[in-house]
Amino acid sequence: MCYRLFASQTRSRTSVRVLQRFHSILNHLCRAAGSKGGRGADECLLDSYLMVTIDVEADSDKNWGTPEVLTFRNVLEAIPNRLQPLFAQYGVKPTYLISPEVLHSADCCAVLRNLACCELGTHLHVEDIPPEVITVGPTCPRRGMQWECRPEIEQRKLQNLTRLFTDTFGSSPRSFRAGRFGVGHHTGKFLMELGYRVDSSVTPNVCWKSHGGTPFPDFTDARELPYWVAADGDLFNSGDSLLLEVPLTIGAPGSPLGAKGKSPVWFRPWYTPKKDLQHIVRKVARSKPEAGMRRPLVMMFHSMEVVAGASPYPQTKAEVEEYLDVLKAVFDMTAELGIKCCTLSEYWQQCCGATVQSKALYL
Ligand SMILES: [Zn+2]
Repeated sequence: MCYRLFASQTRSRTSVRVLQRFHSILNHLCRAAGSKGGRGADECLLDSYLMVTIDVEADSDKNWGTPEVLTFRNVLEAIPNRLQPLFAQYGVKPTYLISPEVLHSADCCAVLRNLACCELGTHLHVEDIPPEVITVGPTCPRRGMQWECRPEIEQRKLQNLTRLFTDTFGSSPRSFRAGRFGVGHHTGKFLMELGYRVDSSVTPNVCWKSHGGTPFPDFTDARELPYWVAADGDLFNSGDSLLLEVPLTIGAPGSPLGAKGKSPVWFRPWYTPKKDLQHIVRKVARSKPEAGMRRPLVMMFHSMEVVAGASPYPQTKAEVEEYLDVLKAVFDMTAELGIKCCTLSEYWQQCCGATVQSKALYL
């Protein structure tokens, strides 16, 4: 019962009673710990955190095409020489979500294995791992989504990706993101079977289209705050499993996060100007807690984006510098406002730690 930490996102009377009971338990824990418990509607059981999540793949071209011979400047150079020093300067602990072709590169794995203060997880592009591998090349950009696979094929791809990661790094991955955010209704179940704790594939206020034109996954009405996934593993529903969905921070048009136009606003460099990213940080820092939690800031980008010409985004060295300056401006502001940073798995621990304690004490 206690796993419904964010139960305002569910509607049943039982959930409301569970939430009330949970709040009273956590209030007691807060008082016992000497903190300011019992602040009524404004009580905050879980503070805001900044999570920087980075998809790690082979270098691309400006049309998301992949060259015949893969290159990995973004892993071999950009991550250790540009991103990690920047993150260390600001105390940011990133989560790198790694695609199969990167795991097949011994040089890349040597670099990733030596990174400090970060989490490594997995990222699935269905073209890159058996069964049913599709050849990737200049004329075949990455277009598949895992929901389009038959369930047994999607399951085997996730199993193979997870085994590859575990064989490479000697530990199991805990966090996952789907390539092109293309999760389906079975994905969460497969992730739970493989021991994952966090999925971060949900992009609220956005509906994706498959290469064939099917409008799915449709996250238009998805929850914006993290939630425990339904017991059957359907990521589109909240429930009482131990798999946590951590949606990206994307403001709806007209929302307090500052989206004035008709398009959603991503908490993502290049997509969104620096001043609007800073606006999002300020809004989140000042937001009132909902169901005992303050919403987190979940940023995503690709490590290729800090290599000129290795993604559709910065094409020159000057644009890369500008991109890094935007990141610095965001981190300056989160530091100034006292927003802490953590990885996806650490966030999972924050979410369930208090819950487990309350179970031990009261049930
Ligand atoms: Zn990707």
